[in-house]
Amino acid sequence: MGEFELIRTFFAAAPCAQGGEGIALGIGDDCALLALPPGEQLAISTDTLVAGVHFADPCDPFLLGQRSLAVAVSDLAAMGAHPLAFTLALTTPTVDADWLQRYAQGLNAMALNCGVGLVGGDTTRGPLSLTLTVFGRVPAGLALTRHGAQPGDLLCVGGELGNAAGALPLVLNQRTAPAAIAEPLLAHYWSPQPQLALGLALRGKATSAMDVSDGLLADCEHIAKASAVRLVIERQRLPLSSALLAFLGDDEARSAALSGGDDYVLAFTLPPAELVPLQADGWPVQVVGRVEQGQGVVLVDPAGQDITPVIRGYQHFRETH
Ligand code: ADP
Ligand code: MG
Repeated sequence: MGEFELIRTFFAAAPCAQGGEGIALGIGDDCALLALPPGEQLAISTDTLVAGVHFADPCDPFLLGQRSLAVAVSDLAAMGAHPLAFTLALTTPTVDADWLQRYAQGLNAMALNCGVGLVGGDTTRGPLSLTLTVFGRVPAGLALTRHGAQPGDLLCVGGELGNAAGALPLVLNQRTAPAAIAEPLLAHYWSPQPQLALGLALRGKATSAMDVSDGLLADCEHIAKASAVRLVIERQRLPLSSALLAFLGDDEARSAALSGGDDYVLAFTLPPAELVPLQADGWPVQVVGRVEQGQGVVLVDPAGQDITPVIRGYQHFRETH
C-alpha cells in the first residue's frame, strides 16, 4: 500500500475527517482552511508521542489512537478554547494495515467525543511516532493563560489526580491488580477525558489555568513563574480515587497525585467568590491550595509545615544547575 492509498483508506475516509463546524476545507489540498467567527482567536498546540518514550511499544493501537488525541485536545481545554480541528503527522516503520485501522478507529472515537475534525497531516517512514496539532477558537481576551494568578486566589483542580500514574505499573506489566482496581486506573491512562466543558465554564472566571500532564507539583511551577506568585498545595486536600488508594495506599497515592504525570485534569486559580457558584452548577472544582505573594510551589501538611519534595515530576531534559 502506497502513501496516498494509506492516507485515503485509514484517515481521509474516517468519519472524523468529513468536515465540521469551522472547517472550510479538509484533507486533500496543500492546506486545510479553518473559518473563525469575528473577534475570535485561533488556539494551536502540538504534541509528539514517541514509541518507547511516551508509550510502550507494542501497545494496543486503538487505545493509542484515543490517547494520542486526548492529550493534545487537553491543551485546548486548558486555554478555554472551543475545539475545531487537528492534524496528524504519522511516522511509522511499516505499513501494517491492521495496526493503522485500529489506530485510526481509536483516533476517530476520541475525535467524535471531543468534537474535532481531522483536516490534514503528513505520513512518513521511520521509527514510530505521532505528532498531533490541535486547533481551537476562543474569543479574543478570554483565553485562560498561565499568567494571571493573584495572591488570595484559590488553587483548584478539575478532578482526581494520580490515576494515570497509578496505572503505569499495570501498563508496563510490572504489577497486577484485581479488575475493580485496574480497570478505572487503566481507563484514565488510555482514555483521558479532556476537560473541554470545564475550560469553557472557567472563561472569565479563572485567573490562570493549565492541564496537569507532568504532575501537579511540577506543573504548578509554570503558573507560579508566569504569574510571579507562590502556590501553596495542601497535601491532605488532593482528590484521590478509591481505586488509587486501594492500589497504592494513602502515602504513595498522594505522591502519585503530586509527582506522577498524565492526569490531563485542569489546574487553575480562582478568586474565592467564584468557587461556590461553579460548584453549585455542578462543575468538578476541588480546592487543593491557595495563591500567595512570593515565588515557587510549596507543599504543606495539615499543620502547615513545608514538606515539599526535591524531585517534582518528569522532564525530558532536566536542568543540571
Ligand atoms: P503535501 O505533499 O502537499 O504536504 P501530502 O502528500 O503529504 O501533501 O498529503 C496529502 C494530503 O493528505 C494533505 O491534505 C495532507 O494534509 C493529508 N494527509 C497526509 N497524511 C495524513 C495523515 N496521516 N492523516 C490525515 N491527513 C493526512
Ligand atoms: Mg507531505
